[in-house]
Parts: sequence; C-alpha cells; structure tokens
Amino acid sequence: MAYSDKVRGVYQAQLKAIRDAGLFKQERFIHSPQAADIEVEFPAGSPLKKVINMCANNYLGLSSHPEVVQAAHDGLDSRGYGMSSVRFICGTQDIHRELERRLTEFLGTEDTLLFPSCMDANAGVFEAVLTKDDVIVSDRLVHASLVDGIRLCSAMHDTIKHSDMGHLEEKLQLHADKRLKLVVTDGVFSMDGDTAKLDEMVRICEKHDAMVLVDDSHATGFIGRTGRGTHEKCGVVGKIDIITTTFGKALGGASGGCVSGRRELVEMCRQRARPYLFSNTIAPVVVEGVLKVMDIVSRSTERRDKLEKNAAYWRKGLTEAGFVLREGDTPIVPVMLFNAKLAQDVSRALYDEGVYAIGFFFPVVPQGQARIRTQISAGHETRHLDRALEAFTKVGKKFDILGRTKQEIIAKYGM
Ligand SMILES: *Cc1c(COP(=O)(O)O)cnc(C)c1O
Repeated sequence: MAYSDKVRGVYQAQLKAIRDAGLFKQERFIHSPQAADIEVEFPAGSPLKKVINMCANNYLGLSSHPEVVQAAHDGLDSRGYGMSSVRFICGTQDIHRELERRLTEFLGTEDTLLFPSCMDANAGVFEAVLTKDDVIVSDRLVHASLVDGIRLCSAMHDTIKHSDMGHLEEKLQLHADKRLKLVVTDGVFSMDGDTAKLDEMVRICEKHDAMVLVDDSHATGFIGRTGRGTHEKCGVVGKIDIITTTFGKALGGASGGCVSGRRELVEMCRQRARPYLFSNTIAPVVVEGVLKVMDIVSRSTERRDKLEKNAAYWRKGLTEAGFVLREGDTPIVPVMLFNAKLAQDVSRALYDEGVYAIGFFFPVVPQGQARIRTQISAGHETRHLDRALEAFTKVGKKFDILGRTKQEIIAKYGM
C-alpha cells in the first residue's frame, strides 16, 4: 500500500507538532446566514450558541441583505444554476459582461475581467502581463495569493520593507534596466488594517516608469469617500494600472474576483491568464447578486458611512477599556496579545461570553505578534458593539491585560 504506516506516521508527527506548538486551527460551524448575530456549533457536536460576529469580512453587511438575496433568486430563475463551461468556450452570459462594465465604472478604470476568485485573479495576472525581462517589486506583507501569483511568473522578484517608500525608490533605481517594472501592494493590509501609501507610491512609480498593482480586497466598496477603494482615499483614481479585488468580502461575500485596469493589461489577462482560461466561470446567481451590490453601493454611501462610524466607535471603546491596538482608521481593528496561546484562550473566553472573535497567530502573522483581529460591519448596531465591548472588558480583566503595555503582556505570557 502506498499510504503505508510509515507515510501516515510522517503526517501524524507533523500534525502533532502543529498541535504542540499551539498552532492547530479548528473550524467552527455556523448554522445561520452570515450576519452580525450568528448561531455557532463549537466545538463540533456542542449545542448551538448565539454569538455576535466580530470577525467576518462582511464589511457592508450585505452578505444576507434581502435585496441581494432576492436578486440572486431572480438570477437563478432567469439564467439558471450553472454555466458548465469556462468563459471563452460557452461560459459567458450578458450579465457577466454587464458586471464587468459596472465594476469598470465603479473603480474608475478602463476595463475589467471577472475571475472565479481574487486568489485566481492574483494567480493569473502576473504571468499574463510580464516576462523574464521584467521585474516585480512587492511590499513584504502582501497577501499570500499575490505571493503565489508572483511565484508563477518568470519575472524577477524583489521586495521592499513594509510601506517604506524610500526603499521602493532605491529598488526601482536598482532595476532601472528592466523592460517593465510592476510595483505590487495590498490596498488595505488585512492583518494590521493599515493603508498603503498609494499617493506617494504613484508619484515614485511615475518618476521611475513603473506600473502599480493594488489588491483592494479589504477596501473595495467602503474605503474612500464613496467607497471606491484605497485609490479614492489616496486621491489616485485613474492612476492605478491594475486593481485586483474580491466579491467575497464587502461586495456580498459570496465568491468571485476581478482584474480591473488598463485596457491592454486586462485584454492580456483575457488572452493568457490561466485561471480565467481553465477554470469555471462565476455562477449566474452570484453575478446577479454582485450586480445588486453594485446598485446598492453606487446609489448611496449610507452603508460605508455607517461602517466608518461603527469602526471609530469600536476603536475608541477598546482603547478606553485599556487594550493594546494596532493603530489605524479602517474597520480592521487588531487587539494585540503577542502570545499565540493567549490569543486562543482569550478568543475562547470571548466565545463563552457570546462574542465570536478569532485569534490569529503564526504563520498567519509573524511569531510574537498574535492577536484577536476584530472586524466591524455596517451590519452591527450600537447594541452589538456595546455588548461586545462589555465582553472584551470582562475577559480583559480576567486575563489581567487591561491597561497593560506590550512589554507587560509579554513579560506575563511570553511571546
Ligand atoms: C481575501 C483576499 C483574497 C482572496 O479573495 P478570494 O476571492 O476569496 O479568493 C485575495 N487578496 C486579498 C488581499 C485578500 O484579502
């Protein structure tokens, strides 16, 4: 037998090492639609518990919005369930092209191409537009899907220290002889909630004749005055050459992603990007759902405004309670605990208090930077946030971390 006891033992030992290091991840089963209030089964087999959700990417509260659900129902009736084809054979409906048009308009770009996910968009885009004569310069903290896409491409790869624009300029000078240069960043960094310095980045890239790619998955729909994204916040709409983003977060949270940007670059993706060419298209129900989301976010800024208010309220509440936060102004609010086990224990205690917020630790964040990442939604009402603050405060007291500095927490619990 190929899967011999010896082979099995190799994996059992690896899994044990992950457990022993306190790094083992367990899924929680949600028995209700995704929303501010959810019913969770955890651990598996336990009775259901009603908890406040503080860790979904449901920034605009649209995951279970009645208008979106209705649009998906209507889409199912009018366009059927599946396409049973990749797009370029017989997998594109008029609604796919319509969604691309709407995204182009919303993002302020020249053209857009849908992908099955943003992971797929990032996996395909680099290889489609660059060759071995080119160079990619990426921020060291970019999302894993960008790292993988860059690996699949033959261009030379270099990195810069996180958000260090002086370092970026040095690297662009160093690679001045390359045919094409592409600078790559997240718009909002998902672990820390900080925003890329796109204004400065664009200025430097213009000077050094480099293109810019921004993955705006944690921004599209709510960052910037009208929610167009990080480029709107930084005043560089129309100057980002490639935006990749997801529909799996603020834009309804189902699935799908896109590459949006300069006409020729998007066309190269249509000709060459492998996840577009060799993977199935987005299902019609999802396309109709995202189209409705585009209606909602285009007709009013009400939801992103509420999200901004909620996030400020939450940040202020946690700060006053005495937690160590990562600074920022996005709906991603990391509560720093530094120690992986502490992050898991705090998460568990919060759950017992009716608040669902997950601990993040290595390898998702660097060693010694474990945290509870809270994420605010326009679906939260003040009563949710007040209840969650109460629970955080109670748990914070229990673990004696309120009003403590980073050094004091590390001294007590270790890194
Ligand atoms: C979530 C995320 C992705 C992946 O999006 P999917 O559509 O779920 O594949 C890609 N990039 C960033 C920055 C993300 O946060």
